[in-house]
Amino acid sequence: MPQAAREVTASYDAVVVGAGFSGLYMLHRLRMMGLTARVFEAGSGVGGTWYWNRYPGARVDIVSQEYSYSFSPELEDEWQWSEKYAPQEELLRYANHVADRFGLRGDVQFNTRVLSQVFDEGTGRWTVTTDAGDVVSARYCIMATGCLSVPKDIDILGADRFKGQVYRTSSWPEGLDLTGKTVAVIGTGSSAIQAIPLIAQQAKHLTVYQRTPNFSLPAHNAPADPAVAADWKANRAERRAGARAQGFGQLFIDECDKNAADFTPAERRQIMEARWAKGGFALGGSFADLVFDKSVNDEVSEFVREKIRSIVKDPALAEKLAPKNHPLFTKRPCVDSGYFDTYNRDNVALVDLTTTPIQTITEDGIRTADGERVFDVIVFAIGFDAMTGALNAVDIRGRGGQSLKEKWADGPTTYLGLMVAGFPNLFVITGPGSPSVLSNMMVSIEQHVDWISDCLAYLGERQLGLIEASPKAEADWVAHVNEVGDTTLYPLANSWYMGANVPGKPRVFMPYIGGVPVYREKCDEVAANGYDGCNLSAAGGA
Ligand code: NAP
Repeated sequence: MPQAAREVTASYDAVVVGAGFSGLYMLHRLRMMGLTARVFEAGSGVGGTWYWNRYPGARVDIVSQEYSYSFSPELEDEWQWSEKYAPQEELLRYANHVADRFGLRGDVQFNTRVLSQVFDEGTGRWTVTTDAGDVVSARYCIMATGCLSVPKDIDILGADRFKGQVYRTSSWPEGLDLTGKTVAVIGTGSSAIQAIPLIAQQAKHLTVYQRTPNFSLPAHNAPADPAVAADWKANRAERRAGARAQGFGQLFIDECDKNAADFTPAERRQIMEARWAKGGFALGGSFADLVFDKSVNDEVSEFVREKIRSIVKDPALAEKLAPKNHPLFTKRPCVDSGYFDTYNRDNVALVDLTTTPIQTITEDGIRTADGERVFDVIVFAIGFDAMTGALNAVDIRGRGGQSLKEKWADGPTTYLGLMVAGFPNLFVITGPGSPSVLSNMMVSIEQHVDWISDCLAYLGERQLGLIEASPKAEADWVAHVNEVGDTTLYPLANSWYMGANVPGKPRVFMPYIGGVPVYREKCDEVAANGYDGCNLSAAGGA
C-alpha cells in the first residue's frame, strides 16, 4: 500500500495526471470553472505523445485541421498548419502555444510522475503522491494519461546484452544522426513504418525485423492547401459538427453508408482506387460493412496487397510484406510516406520473423534461425502497453483500498470509458470502453473533457461531492462494449486493441466500436438524466 500517512502539503479541487492534449484542455476547463487544479506531468514539457515520440518521420495521420482543438475559435483562427499531416515538431509547438495562450503552464508540475492515488472514504478525497515527494489532496482525480504512453517492455531475449546503441521510437533523442550506421529496426507498426523510410535515407544499411506484415496506406502528405485552411476557418462550426457525426470522428474518411454489395465489382474497384488516391484513412470509409463482413474485407485487403505488389519490385519480398493474417483495419492501419518503396533500396533488407524468428540479441547484433547479423544500432519500435498501461502504472486505490490494477486483472471495466465502479470522483479521459483510439483522438478528448466539466459543474451546483458509477451500470456497459465488438472482425486480430501485443495481458477488445455519434448521444443522455447509472451523494466527512 502507498504511504497514506504522509502529511498532505497542498489541496486542490482536482488533480490531472498528464499534460498532453487531454490534460491541457482539462486544465483550461477546470480553470474556467474557477476550480483549483494541479497537473502532474512526467515529461519536462507539455504535449504528451508529441513530446515523447520524436523519431524521424513522426507525424499525425489525421488531417491537421481535424486533429486540432475546436474549443476556441480564436485559437483556430491564429494557428496555421504547414502540412496536410502535421509533423511532430509542429504538433509539439502547437501544444506549447496552447499552454502559453491560455496561461496553463503555471498549474503544471513537470518532471513529476504520479505514483499513487488513494481514496479516503472518510473525507471523500483522494491523496495523490508523486516521485517528487508531493502528497496532495484532491476532490477529483482526472487521468489524462493517454492510450499509448507506456512503452511495452522489451520482450526479446538478450536485449540487455547488446553493446551498440539502443533507441526506442517512443523516447527518441533529439538530433540523433544515424549517418553511416548499420541499423536494425524491430517492429513494423505505425511508428516503424513512419521512421523506416527516413532511417533508410540516413543509415549505411538498414535491416527491418518484421513479425507481422502490416497494412499501410499512402499519406500523400503535402504542404497545407490554403483553400482547405480557408474553408475550415470559414465553415468551422459545420466542419466540426460534420466530423462529430462520423463514426470515426473524421470528416476526411467520409464514411460510406452503403454495403459493398450495393455496388458492382467495377464500382467497388473505382471506389477503392479513388480512396487510395485520396490517401490516409479514406479507404476505411469505402463500405459500411468493411469491418463486419469478412468477404468484403477480403476484397479490400486484396486490393491493398495488390498495391504493395505493384510498389515493391522484388515479388518474393512483396509477398513477405503483404499482410495476410488479419483483416484490414482490425490492427490499427498505418499511414506512410514511401514505406513500401523503401524496400526497393539497395541498403534495406527485411527479415521475416515468421520463418526465421529471433533467437536472441547478442553483444554485436541479432541472431535469428538463419544466423547472426551485426549492427551499430538497434531501434525498438515494438509498441505500447495500450489503453491500460498508464492507468495500471499508478497505484490507484478506491473504496476499501481496492486496487484498480487488481480490479482490471481480467481486462478493464468502466462505465462509458469515463468512470470505474468503486473509484468515486475518478475520471478517465478516452479510457477503455470509449471510442478513443478508434476515433479522431481530438474529437474524443474534447467530448470527454466537456462531459467531465459539465459533470463537475452539476455536482457543484447541487453541492454534491461524490459521483461514482454503479456496479450494474458498469457491468451493463462492459457487456454492451463486448457485444458490439463481437459483431465486428476486430477480435480476429492479435492487435494491441485486444491486448495481444503484451505477453500475459488479458485478451479483451478494449475500445468501444459503436461509433462517435452513438457514443456521444449515450453520454449526453446519461448526463441529461441526472447521471443515470451513477450514485451521487454529498461528499464524505469533508
Ligand atoms: P505497434 O503498432 O504495436 O507496433 C509494434 C510492432 O513491433 C509490431 O510490428 C509488432 O509485431 C512488433 N513487435 C512487438 N513485439 C515484438 C517482438 N517481441 N519481436 C518482434 N516484433 C515485435 O506500435 P507502434 O508502431 O508504436 O504504434 C502504436 C500505435 O500508436 C499505433 O497503432 C497508432 O495508434 C499510434 N501511432 C500513431 C502514429 C500516427 O498517428 N502517425 C504514429 C505512430 C504510432 P506484431 O504486429 O506481430 O505484434
